[in-house]
Parts: sequence; structure tokens; C-alpha cells
Amino acid sequence: MEIMTEELNSKTKNILKRGMMDNVMEQFNRAANHIHLNPNIRKILSITNNELVIHFPVKMDNGDVEIFRGYRVQHNNALGPYKGGLRYHPTVDIDAARALAMWMTWKTSLAGLPYGGGKGGIQLDPSKYSQGELERITRRFTFALADNIGPEHDIPAPDLNTNSQTMAWIADTYMSTRPPAERSANQHVVTGKPIESGGLEGRDRATGFGVYLNIKFWLNSKNETLQGKRFIVQGFGNVGYWAAYFLEQEGAKLVAVQDVFGSLYNPEGIQVEKLYNYSTSNKGNIAGFPEASIIDKHDFFGVDCDICIPAALGNQITKESAPNIKARLVAEGANGPTDVEGEKILLAKGITIIPDILCNSGGVIASYFEWLQNRSGDMWPIDEVMDKLEKKLKNSFDKVYEYAKNEGIDMRTAAYCIAITRIEKAYVQRGIFP
Ligand code: GLU
Repeated sequence: MEIMTEELNSKTKNILKRGMMDNVMEQFNRAANHIHLNPNIRKILSITNNELVIHFPVKMDNGDVEIFRGYRVQHNNALGPYKGGLRYHPTVDIDAARALAMWMTWKTSLAGLPYGGGKGGIQLDPSKYSQGELERITRRFTFALADNIGPEHDIPAPDLNTNSQTMAWIADTYMSTRPPAERSANQHVVTGKPIESGGLEGRDRATGFGVYLNIKFWLNSKNETLQGKRFIVQGFGNVGYWAAYFLEQEGAKLVAVQDVFGSLYNPEGIQVEKLYNYSTSNKGNIAGFPEASIIDKHDFFGVDCDICIPAALGNQITKESAPNIKARLVAEGANGPTDVEGEKILLAKGITIIPDILCNSGGVIASYFEWLQNRSGDMWPIDEVMDKLEKKLKNSFDKVYEYAKNEGIDMRTAAYCIAITRIEKAYVQRGIFP
């Protein structure tokens, strides 16, 4: 493993990447103080185990060679192999990869999975490349990652702008580079694969389903239902779409959506399936959907509603946008959508936040099911998957909700306390080698 650090050039960083590490460290330290975390374990968890920065060449369709920069950060593996997604986005850098890897460690620990945390990706805008180029970029990156990933070592999955097709290319490349007799036994090097290539029924909807369930559990704890509740969604990708889909099925109303192309508003409700069909026939672009009006992007978070679901990039709810939020509940579908200052404002306004490491954990829980299936050769029908997912998510929600109530703290700090305590126990039991 090559260990590298990178000097961050603050001028090239934009607002989307601002302080992701600052956020996760502040959240971590708050919880560590609350549980009086063993100081030696605090030192270990405050840094990442391994950081891989890879430059690799790929031949473009026009014959030119382009050099790409890929990352894989492995934060901690005290509880099991590193686990976490790969994202393709211009904001991917070492700061983002570190923070996202840390969030994975807390997420898998909280969910009670036998995994640690990792994250990575490639710094690029995928809309600028053809499908053939994306395939070559993915395969060459996988080849460069080589034995730094593996089914019992570090298991990537989809994240922003990557999907089951990306995972199929990674699995195929990784398996092709193994000796023939070992190829099939390596299928679980990635999760989130297409069904026919060892994927899990329901993995596509798992994250959004989990966001919906967390919202429902929270309302149920107040003796309320989803019927008639108004919600807004930032990001109409895999997470945003499926969360909206399930919420609408239970009588909630989507009143505003925002994506990179525009912000839509309709107080009477936007029909999720219609918007989805419109967006898929327009290359993922929601702007121009006829059954809603366009609003200014700065007005999106201020739309009158009960529930706000940030399901796009990090650092969206900040000291600028947080004061406008009218929702009673913020359900974090994205990783790190609320920065530290934004969170303070929300909490002071009495708004509940279901934190990312709980709210979007349905994805990695389903990844775990896929990994188990691949290891055992079993195949579960979708109803069984959704059932198992719901049980696990309910268990996590109840633990966090009770802990927060008993300790008089917010749900994020509670979730961190539970997650960190589990890792602390593992370290105390095993000691530090040598
Ligand atoms: N990228 C997803 C996340 O942030 C899923 C990770 C996984 O399934 O390993 O949780």
C-alpha cells in the first residue's frame, strides 16, 4: 500500500467541498467527548489508515490520452473489511475522500455490520465522457487499485454518478486479473452489481427506502403518519427518486425538487413517477417538467413543507440556507449535507435531523446482504430483502432515538456515540499490536 498525502490547494476548492473533514471531525469529537472515549482510540480514529492517490492514463475516443486522478481512502477496519462507495465527480479530492471514508466507518458500525469504512472515486465530470470512455476509465482505475481492494479487504459500491454498470465493469476487471480458479470466488469485490452479475434484488432502491423508513419511524414516534405531509427533495438521483417514490405511496406530497439543472415547485404536489419518466427521457434533466413552476435555486430550501430531504452533495445546508428551512424534519439522504454551522442553526430552531449515517444506511445494509449472498451462493427474493432491511433499519432507528432521548442529545451525536462505542470495545478487547 502506497501511503500518500496531498497538499490541498484551497483556491481550487469550491463551496461544495468546503470543510468536509472539518465537519466530520467536529461531529466525531463532540460524540467522543460525550462518551469520554479512550484517548488512544481517539487518536487512532482521528486519522485514516491508508490513502491511495492514483494517476492513470486512458485512451479517449479521439485517440488522445488523458490522465485521471483516482482516490481510495481506507479509514478504519477494526470491525471488518473497508466498505464504501466510489464517486465520479469534480469535487472528489483527498479531503472529501477522507471525510466520506470516516462517515462510512460510523455508518457500518452503527448498522451493526462486520465492516470498516472506506471511500474513493475519480475527479471527473462523467457527463463529459462517452459510455466507452467511462468503461475504460473504470477498468483502468480498477486495474490500478489492484490488490488494494478485495472481497475480504476493501469492497467498493456505487455512490454519486456511479451505478450497477460501473460495478459490473469493476467486478469483471478484478475477476479477470485473478487466476482462473479464483475468479468466481471474487465476485463480492464490489456490491451494487446488476442482478444478473451477482447483484441483489432491491439494492437499487435500498437507500431511498431507508430514507423513507427513517422518516416514517420518526413520525410514528410522534403518533403521526405520512398522510398529507409535504416534502422537498434536493437531488433526483437514485436516493432522491426512491425516497420520494415510497413517501408518495404512503400519502405524502412532493412539493419541490432541485437538481443541478433547476428547481421545481408545485404546492399541489409533483407526481413522482411522471417526473421520473420526464427526467429519464431528458438525460436526467428535470428542468422543463410541465406540471410544476421553476423557482430560483436560492428559494428551494425556504419552500413551506414538513420534511426536507437533501439527497445530493455535501455542505448544502449551511449558515446561508439553514435559516430559511421551514421543515420540522431534515432527513439526510446525502452524506454530509449539513455543515456544522448549518446544523447549529437547525437545532436552535428545534428542527430534528435524522443524520446521514442512520438515514442513508439502507444502501450499505443492502450491500452487506449482497455480499453475504455472493459468499454463500444464496439468492433472496425481493420481499425477503426488503423485510430484512426494514428490521435492521428499525433496530438502528430505535437505538439512536432512545439514546438521544435518554441522554438529552441530538440524533447525530447519539448515532456517533453508539457507532464509536462499538469500535472502542473492539480495540479494548484486542489491544494494539505489537
Ligand atoms: N455509497 C453508499 C454510501 O455512502 C453505499 C456504500 C456501500 O454500499 O458500500 O453509503
